[in-house]
Amino acid sequence: EVETAIKVVIVGNGAVGKSSMIQRYCKGIFTKDYKKTIGVDFLERQIEVNCEDVRLMLWDTAGQEEFDAITRAYYRGAQACVIAFSIVDRDSFEAIQDWKRKVEDEVGQIPTVFVQNKMDLADETLVAQKEVDDLVANSRLKLFKTSVKNNVCVDDVFKYLAEKYLEQ
Ligand code: GDP
Ligand code: MG
Repeated sequence: EVETAIKVVIVGNGAVGKSSMIQRYCKGIFTKDYKKTIGVDFLERQIEVNCEDVRLMLWDTAGQEEFDAITRAYYRGAQACVIAFSIVDRDSFEAIQDWKRKVEDEVGQIPTVFVQNKMDLADETLVAQKEVDDLVANSRLKLFKTSVKNNVCVDDVFKYLAEKYLEQ
């Protein structure tokens, strides 16, 4: 039996926690200053979904989150997508619809979720939950509220995407 491998792209403004999320999920670690390992395009983790082995390949950007700076090669063949923002960075929240359009322009409709990260900093939030919920309701994508730092809800994001991918 051929195992399923899924390329997952993780987009969103700089510093929202994308690289940290990949590290957390694939290596089980959290550091304050994660630097992309030179020469490595993605990290991977294998999980079981509905008794099927699934290999998730999580593609990191090289820190070039400026809107048009992410290369075509990054998006090419993407099969699932995480659009992340941070609750302590308003701009990152306001950018998520643009990110959604950008991904759709590049790869069309693929299983996609929104991730509301840094929930451990809820006391300092700059984004009202109602704003988030309204926007998410309009887009009909699922929202995951995560703390990569405290490892809250991170696994759920990728399990959901794998399930979505398999049920297509
Ligand atoms: P990227 O630019 O989107 O890849 O963001 P990074 O993964 O480099 O993270 C930017 C900063 O946010 C780093 O200092 C991380 O340690 C920090 N960070 C990431 N996730 C969380 C989180 O859930 N909570 C808190 N408090 N900090 C986080
Ligand atoms: Mg990064």
